[in-house]
Amino acid sequence: MPGGANLTKFDPLRLNVGFLLNKDVGDSRNFDFEEPSLLISEDFLISDLRGSARLSRTGQGIYIEGHLQGKVDLECVRCLSEYSQALSAEINELFDYPPKKDSDPHLTISEDAILDLGPILRESFLLNLPIQPICRIDCMGLCPVCGELITEGHQSHPEEEIDPRLAVLKTLLS
Ligand SMILES: [Zn+2]
Ligand SMILES: [Zn+2]
Repeated sequence: MPGGANLTKFDPLRLNVGFLLNKDVGDSRNFDFEEPSLLISEDFLISDLRGSARLSRTGQGIYIEGHLQGKVDLECVRCLSEYSQALSAEINELFDYPPKKDSDPHLTISEDAILDLGPILRESFLLNLPIQPICRIDCMGLCPVCGELITEGHQSHPEEEIDPRLAVLKTLLS
């Protein structure tokens, strides 16, 4: 797979918490994350993922408080170019152990003591995706006449310089 050499999948987010489940209520442990590139789910690739999470043993399972950040490739709505958007995710969740009948399946620890952060992290990143992704605050987008990126050097067009394809369309319409 080209470019996939250092691509890891899911696994760094599947934490084995068996040791913590055996500890007393109130015990905690920090986990650090640093992944150059990680598929958070089949459809979500995040790069430069870093951050940490504190996992604490409670009577109901494990409470997790985490702050992570990463980058995702998005398309700018103005200039249509791909850019890297910084995202952050806050996690404050209780994972049930042992799972109860009405437990959220994304918030339970499996029988073999695996706490999977993936689904929660994905949700948290998605919540923070911009609705209108923009590569730069001052991105001027594409010129409707020539289709070029509008930069400081871009000259406005006199009427007659209209794209010939548009001119043809104009004639057809009139
Ligand atoms: Zn842009
Ligand atoms: Zn132009």
